[in-house]
Amino acid sequence: MSHPQDIEITDLFIIGGGINGCGIARDAAGRGLSVALAEMNDLASATSSASTKLFHGGLRYLEYFEFRLVREALIEREVLLQAMPHISWPMRFVLPYHKDMRFESDTPTSKLLGLFMPWMKGRRPAWLIRLGLFLYDHLGGRKILPGTSTLELPGTAEGAPLQGRFAKAYEYSDCWVEDSRLVVLNARDAAARGARIMTRTKVLSAQFEDGLWRIETRNSENGEQATHHARMLVNAGGPWVGDIIHSTVHSTSREGIRLVRGSHIVTRRLYDHDKCYFFQGTDGRIIFAIPYEGDFTLIGTTDADHPDAAQKPECTPQEQDYLLTFANQYFKRQLTREDIVWTYSGVRPLYNDGASSATAATRDYTLKVDTSSGGPLLNIFGGKITTYRRLAESALDKIGAQIPVAKGPWTAGVPLPGGDFPVDGVAALTSELRARYPFLTDFWARRLVRAYGTEAAVMLGDAQSAADLGRDFGATLTEKEIAWLMAREFARTAEDVVWRRNKLGLRLGEEQIAALDGWMAQCRYSASSAAE
Ligand SMILES: Cc1cc2nc3c(=O)[nH]c(=O)nc-3n(C[C@H](O)[C@H](O)[C@H](O)COP(=O)(O)OP(=O)(O)OC[C@H]3O[C@@H](n4cnc5c(N)ncnc54)[C@H](O)[C@@H]3O)c2cc1C
Repeated sequence: MSHPQDIEITDLFIIGGGINGCGIARDAAGRGLSVALAEMNDLASATSSASTKLFHGGLRYLEYFEFRLVREALIEREVLLQAMPHISWPMRFVLPYHKDMRFESDTPTSKLLGLFMPWMKGRRPAWLIRLGLFLYDHLGGRKILPGTSTLELPGTAEGAPLQGRFAKAYEYSDCWVEDSRLVVLNARDAAARGARIMTRTKVLSAQFEDGLWRIETRNSENGEQATHHARMLVNAGGPWVGDIIHSTVHSTSREGIRLVRGSHIVTRRLYDHDKCYFFQGTDGRIIFAIPYEGDFTLIGTTDADHPDAAQKPECTPQEQDYLLTFANQYFKRQLTREDIVWTYSGVRPLYNDGASSATAATRDYTLKVDTSSGGPLLNIFGGKITTYRRLAESALDKIGAQIPVAKGPWTAGVPLPGGDFPVDGVAALTSELRARYPFLTDFWARRLVRAYGTEAAVMLGDAQSAADLGRDFGATLTEKEIAWLMAREFARTAEDVVWRRNKLGLRLGEEQIAALDGWMAQCRYSASSAAE
């Protein structure tokens, strides 16, 4: 099919700037495909900034016999850690044991146990936890992360914040990741490899005609509409994946998703060590309590069916109480709603496998190529932050079956921007930064290294003093950093900055955030006037 000379045709057009869309964009651009990505809001503005932020195998998925997912995710933890030692780090998880902990009643494991050990009455025996942790240690071939150990809690820092009835705990490894920064760094790397990343750009419609996808978009900042042409379309719309299938592309595909909301609460720091807690409830569910942003503790999550992607997820008062009651079964200090300083909530776009409960619905991903509209459309269902890179590789396999892809997989261990230093190199990098910029406080230097890695010094440039970094917006946020975030990391508003590029929203007051927003609006205005 020949097309007019003046239309620009990309190989791949991706809808959605969450982790899956940006991960696919990076992988595809690195294989030489021309790529465009449209995100209707900010990058990671939906589920990908609302996760528990763990690169984890998912200990609890073993009870659902999700061995493929757990194995892939366990192996992936160290591959990812090496590519991004600034935004990801190992963490130890303390799992206090008590004989009253129960299974969710419809896991395959609890059904088996009910058959062979009916006297357990749904309780989760210690030997089963040890077996799970043994598998967890061995399924994924660890080199960096230490294995499981047993802990006698009385008299230890780990036991100190817990109620006296917890005498014993198991300890295992997983990793932390700054989820929204992961998305932005993938988008930046994709752009550096030639991808066109368009934020605040909603895909209104996509039709396959004359051998190409014709995609209509609208920019929410200036109202401009545009038409794009692509050989293949990728639907990485997360919670909107179904809406895109039916209302944007008008496909007849019958695949469905299940929207499962998960909420977190944040309190002031509840204990004095850097490990996480893995709490098992009497309802069969689990929650985490995690050291967060130095001075805080993150507690979550919940599982609740969510009615509609259009409804903004919020941590409901019931979910807040649920998490407080759950944590209060473990901590000595009894938490109330007054202890909550922030909450957030996200919607998991899970593949609808017909599971009975939201907790049981599969966390694995499913990729489906749909050609019912005439052209190739790849729909992404489910997935974890942890498996985003492998999901992108699988997506490229499917894409390669539709359009020519010259290169093979390449992303394993390849650093994201700023991640080109050793896994245990954060302390050394922080010392170097403080030596070169003596005006940085310890908190400030650590924050910059954790956000930008080796690029922290590039961002600070030849500054000799804090004054050289321009206006101070509070909590170590300066004009120089905001300019970097606007020029290189697609930030447009204060919310993008203080809740997704960093979490300084926890430390800044409303007035400070409003002042930042005004300043950024002025920058946008000046930039658009200069462009006219
Ligand atoms: C509470 C919770 C905890 C979790 N914890 C973990 C964890 O600890 N570890 C882990 O590995 N995983 C975790 N996950 C899973 C993980 O967060 C998600 O699987 C992942 O973020 C999904 O990414 P996505 O790119 O598919 O979706 P999203 O991040 O939602 O991205 C989809 C994007 O598409 C955009 N979009 C939609 N329609 C359009 C359109 N028409 N035009 C343009 N853009 C559009 C949206 O604005 C959105 O930004 C958790 C999830 C939740 C909810």
